[in-house]
Amino acid sequence: MATYTGNAKNNTFTGTQASDTFFGKGGDDTLNGKGGVDTAIFRGSFEQYQIKHAADQAHLKVGVTGPDGNDHLTNIELLKFDNGTYDVTNHHFTPNPPPPPPEVKKIALTFDDGPDPTWTPQVLKVLQDHGVKATFFELGENIEANPDLAKAVVAGGNLLENHTFDHPHLPNLTAAQITTEIQRTSDDIFKFTGTTPEYVRPPYGEVNQKVENSIESMHLKTALWTVDTNDWQVDDGVKITEQQIVNTVLNNATDNGIVLMHDAGGDRHLTVAALDNIIDGLHAQGYELVTLDQIPTLPHWDLFA
Ligand SMILES: [Zn+2]
Repeated sequence: MATYTGNAKNNTFTGTQASDTFFGKGGDDTLNGKGGVDTAIFRGSFEQYQIKHAADQAHLKVGVTGPDGNDHLTNIELLKFDNGTYDVTNHHFTPNPPPPPPEVKKIALTFDDGPDPTWTPQVLKVLQDHGVKATFFELGENIEANPDLAKAVVAGGNLLENHTFDHPHLPNLTAAQITTEIQRTSDDIFKFTGTTPEYVRPPYGEVNQKVENSIESMHLKTALWTVDTNDWQVDDGVKITEQQIVNTVLNNATDNGIVLMHDAGGDRHLTVAALDNIIDGLHAQGYELVTLDQIPTLPHWDLFA
């Protein structure tokens, strides 16, 4: 226990141990308590104490000097010693408002059509270098052809999800065929990686009521995207650049967004090259890059528009 006495206004008291006593003299004093139950006696008038304390479980007894010249603890005898202001005149403690929680925006990168022996390892490498995880919507036929890559996707902490077996136009199939496309792929994912997919991304984003019913009947969720990088358009001879892919993501990123890219199905060197700047740019915008299951609510897609 130590005693600190202010001699003028605007004193700063820093306690060094539990159960310190502070005698203020007036004006705005600052108490930096260290723990336990500290006592502050206000001997001036119209005093305000800025109360700071780092430790939990710390309390402050507040007193004033009465007309008899003696120090008396106020009726607020045990005050949670928390950051705030004590107004001795009105015996009122005002805690500082809690700091607003930092805004954490989330966005999910997704890669479709793999695994591919050329491009998937390169995508995984960039993700790993940045300590970022993504979601891969893969084809059953490619998983069967590259089971070690499917394992590598999962081993990297990424999600491996269902993009059908061989990328058909699902609305053109019968319900039974749709179920086969999806089930075989889910079975492959489980067989080779031990994980069970939760989402289906219908190829081309093509969904009708029949497709949706099939997906729901298998207790899976339909997952489309909010940002299409159009990285696949190079396969159609469209001249797009790495920078365009980067800009598309960074200009259209939203909280809980889902970015569509591809790690297979064509020459994906632009996608791989863009990924570095996409990740850095999203981080700079305050986004946390998460897997799809970390997006709290999937956007509402007008599936049958
Ligand atoms: Zn696809």
